[in-house]
Order: sequence, then C-alpha cells, then structure tokens
Amino acid sequence: MTIQEKITKLKKEKNAIILAHIYQDGAVQAIADFVGDSLELSRKALDVECDVIVFCGVRFMAESAKILNPNKTVLLPVLTAGCPMADMVDAQAIIDHRSEHPDAAVVCYVNSSAEAKAESDVCCTSSNAVKVVRSLEQDKIIFVPDENLGSYVAAQVPEKEIILHKGYCIVHKRVLVDEVQKAKEALPDAQLLVHPECTPDVVDQAHFVGSTAQIINYAKESTHDQFIIATEMGILHILQNQNPDKKFYMASPKLVCVNMKKTHIEDVLASLENMEHEIILKEELMNRARISLDRMLAVK
Ligand code: SF4
Repeated sequence: MTIQEKITKLKKEKNAIILAHIYQDGAVQAIADFVGDSLELSRKALDVECDVIVFCGVRFMAESAKILNPNKTVLLPVLTAGCPMADMVDAQAIIDHRSEHPDAAVVCYVNSSAEAKAESDVCCTSSNAVKVVRSLEQDKIIFVPDENLGSYVAAQVPEKEIILHKGYCIVHKRVLVDEVQKAKEALPDAQLLVHPECTPDVVDQAHFVGSTAQIINYAKESTHDQFIIATEMGILHILQNQNPDKKFYMASPKLVCVNMKKTHIEDVLASLENMEHEIILKEELMNRARISLDRMLAVK
C-alpha cells in the first residue's frame, strides 16, 4: 500500500480530514482535503464534519482550528512547526500597548498565539485586515504583531491612527527592494504580485498587493501571462497547476519558510497512526480567543 493509500484508509477509520496551508510542500497539498490561506482554512475549520482535523501548517493555525472546534481533536503533525512572527507578541505586550493607548482597539493578525488572540478585540488575516480595521468604530487601532501588514493597512485606511507593534515575518522581510526592481527590469512585461507581509518599499513596487488567496485569484483572472511573485514559494504549486500557460518567477530565492516545510507526507501518516501531536488549550483561553476569531469571521 502506498503512503497515500494508508493515509486515505486511516482518514476513513478515524473520520479525519486534512487541511493544508498553501505554503506546504506540494505532496502534502496533494493529499489534503482542502488547501487554502489562513482565512479560508479558518472558515473551513468551522464547516468540516469530522472527529479529527490534521492541520498541515504551523502551530498558530492548528490552535485556531482547535479554538473554533473545541470538541474536535486537532493534530499538528510536526510539533516544532512554529511561526517566528507569532512569537513576537505575547499577552503582556498587548496589555502594555493598551495601557499606553486605552482608547484604541487591538487588532491581532491570526499569525499569533492563542494568548495574544485572547488579549485582543478582533483578529484579522492578510485577506481581510483592511476590512476588519475599517469595520471598527474606534479611530485608533493597535495592530499586532506584523508591522508590515499594519503599515499596509495604515496606508489603505488613512482616516484611522494605526499603532504598530514591531513584529515581522522573517521570510517576507528577506525580499529586498533592489531584488524586485532588478526582477522588474529583467521581465518588463511581468506583473509583480506582493504579499503585504513584505516591507513597505517592496509593497510600493507592486502591481498588485494581496494575501496568498488574493494573489492566486489575481493571477488566474489576469490577462497577463508573466508574474513575479513576492511571497512564500509554496504558492507556486497552485499557481502553476491552475495556470499551465502562464509563467511565474520568484522575486527572491530566499522566500522559503522552513517552518512551513517541516511537514512531509510521512509526518501526516505518523500523525494519523499515532494521533499526534494533539493541540491542547485551556477552555477559558479558548473561549476568550474565540471571541476575537468570531468577530473577524463576522466581518463581511
Ligand atoms: S511565512 Fe512568515 S508568517 Fe508565515 S509561518 Fe513562515 S515565518 Fe510565520
């Protein structure tokens, strides 16, 4: 029996489904029941009918799935798959921001711990951050943890004051403005598609700025046939599959998230066989974090 067949058999036996982030390894995406970005996966986690969710991504994503599905077993195949940006803000940092700006609402990017979500007013993803900030009645917003996404939101919502936390994605920060300028010169007919976790000088060079799902959609709908991509290179799997006649070039070879690449198909099999590694969170923490996630999901 192949690994894929073993996984399919175990999924049936355990009534499990596999969710995978777009940045995952191609073989993992291929065996997943659903592949998406953070927002799509959050929504999917709410809808799925199963007893077990195997979450192929990093820890904060599996935590969100658990918070939204407290009665289901959520498994993270590789225990060390974390997100350095999520570790850049903790509950105390948010309490400190609030004491400095008591009239501000706290918007927490989903790339954060359950503790940070519990301390915030509402969550957002890179797909809906602008909408979430606009939906709030407060004129002052504390945005955690990503200062680059926060800067992008601030430019789109100039009527609000955005207080930035100094976190960032170590992967997207590696793309340099010189690199994207050179790539644009080398490929003058290509469109530059940039994720808002990149630094503002790189974002300023873009023909289109969007989350992974928005970039995928843009490339599909576009009449252009060449694209320079400034986000994690796992996105190429879907881009090339969906657009066999279009060409995609990475803005930088450094756009690889090692944490997103830790999960291999063998880990997914081991996870289902041994029911490891189960996400366990305190009920009180989940209840508070769920309020922030639910508020985000209610924003249309
Ligand atoms: S790509 Fe960046 S934000 Fe996403 S998991 Fe990796 S380090 Fe975290």
